[in-house]
Amino acid sequence: MSVEEILTINHVKKSYDTLEVLKDISLTVRKGEVVVVVGPSGCGKSTLLRCINGLESIQQGEISLRGEVISGRSKEMHLVRQKIGMVFQSYELFPHMNILDNITLGPIKAQHRSRAEAEEEAKKLLERVGLLEKKDAYPRQLSGGQKQRVAIVRALCMHPEVMLFDEVTAALDPEMVREVLDVMLELAREGSTMIIVTHEMQFARAIADRVLFLDKGEVVEESTPEEFFVNPRTERAQKFLNVFE
Ligand code: ADP
Ligand code: MG
Repeated sequence: MSVEEILTINHVKKSYDTLEVLKDISLTVRKGEVVVVVGPSGCGKSTLLRCINGLESIQQGEISLRGEVISGRSKEMHLVRQKIGMVFQSYELFPHMNILDNITLGPIKAQHRSRAEAEEEAKKLLERVGLLEKKDAYPRQLSGGQKQRVAIVRALCMHPEVMLFDEVTAALDPEMVREVLDVMLELAREGSTMIIVTHEMQFARAIADRVLFLDKGEVVEESTPEEFFVNPRTERAQKFLNVFE
């Protein structure tokens, strides 16, 4: 039995003016899979995630969520995109709203769920990441690691089909990296479908079902973590991995 395809990226090309950033990207992500995307700075990782959740338009190819094309313009797109959660390096929490309101804004405003139900779920999720006592605090009163866990909870509270993570620990002090990675490992264990961009290679190896190595806007390798980290097939991947040793 083949596992359900959640996200399908089919020959996607993306340029900024004359700069071709994604050259011909294809990728299928199935339910419960964790795909880790690695590659040198500027190779197009963030652009790929931003194209998937519709923050950027593409010039060619197609992106589908459960068989429904989501690249392109139509007024229902925003509904489909609610099904894609994204967490950024820079948290993007609303500074003037407390933690609970930050998390429940989307469920209440965009999904028209009741405040009571949304708050109940938000509190459960906050408890799971060890932050229930911060529900009335404001983002500025939290550490970077705490803010990032809130940002993850905020995305989860929308019940996305797939979660996208763009270098979510890159701006954190080293002692806070672990607490965020542990939340992601827990989500993976529970069967969340995720695409993760990271420079944490040990974490990548531990969490990935598949590794996608991008270089200059192309998929250079797509392999299991064992293959990729032990026996990278290309010289480009070997060179990239050497930097982390
Ligand atoms: P990565 O996340 O792998 O570091 P990015 O996806 O951020 O790479 O960027 C890929 C390339 O696209 C880089 O050359 C970058 O300078 C360029 N780029 C990214 N965003 C824009 C933009 N909004 N306008 C023009 N060029 C951009
Ligand atoms: Mg990036």
